Amino acid sequence: MPDEPLVIRDPAAMTAASRAARARGQRVGLVPTMGALHAGHLSLVDYARANSDLLVVSVFVNPMQFNNQGDLDNYPVTWEADFALCAQHRVDVIYAPTVDAMYPEGFQSKVLVEGLTQEMEGEFRPGHFDGVTTVVLKLFAAVRPDMAAFGQKDYQQLKVVERMSQDLDLGVKVIGRPTVREPDGLALSSRNVHLSPDERQRALCLRRALDQARELAAGGETEVAAIEAAAGEVIAQTEGARLDYLAVVHPDSLERLQRLQGPSRMCLAVWLGDTRLIDNDALN
Ligand code: AMP
Repeated sequence: MPDEPLVIRDPAAMTAASRAARARGQRVGLVPTMGALHAGHLSLVDYARANSDLLVVSVFVNPMQFNNQGDLDNYPVTWEADFALCAQHRVDVIYAPTVDAMYPEGFQSKVLVEGLTQEMEGEFRPGHFDGVTTVVLKLFAAVRPDMAAFGQKDYQQLKVVERMSQDLDLGVKVIGRPTVREPDGLALSSRNVHLSPDERQRALCLRRALDQARELAAGGETEVAAIEAAAGEVIAQTEGARLDYLAVVHPDSLERLQRLQGPSRMCLAVWLGDTRLIDNDALN
């Protein structure tokens, strides 16, 4: 049985532990999460374990990034299972600050990344990315990691965090890792537990829409409008599925494309009942 992870709840104590590790010449790795850990999170943990000496997993359900109170209230919390998984995957520190420690009375700062946050998730979840960048900057400040791992599952978030780290000279190497999926193609997500068995089946429409787009692109279709229409049709044909957006974008600028010439990414967000799912994939 490996050593159990140390649980740190106080930002200053976290910084002290990180500073001590770096003084010993150790590299500090961070995997930010909101808990309810699944194999997608654990793929980031395993990557970071292999690439750092002091491995920190943060578990913090960040109220500031929720634009919907019901979503926050229903967000799954599985602390004991999370702890056991972190122990199994040889995490050194679980950084789990309280909401009061993160946002004490009088808190009034916010980090804002502009262009990249305007479309897609930014359009449908107003304020969401301000919450994300603010909390990630606070986590970086407390943990002072050399490297932090994020999932491509939240592709726009990954690009926004990369931008912030570069723009603000944070000196954190931001690593994006592939999306982990169920055998049938559904991207793992903490919110999948909210799907009824029926919705779980229908949730495959996200993967099918992406596959449809990839097939068209592979077959030589270059008109993005045609690709988006065909992929949108997959969602439209799925009973009970409602599209927020579906967009083919440049993988770095996230600007919408008209034609497929170089690299591209399709991103989409779909409601199944009361559960909102997102997914994305490269088209070529
Ligand atoms: P969350 O707890 O949902 O905020 O996610 C924490 C981190 O895990 C983020 O960087 C996510 O992009 C990443 N993540 C979530 N789901 C997956 C997945 N299915 N595959 C890979 N990474 C994921």
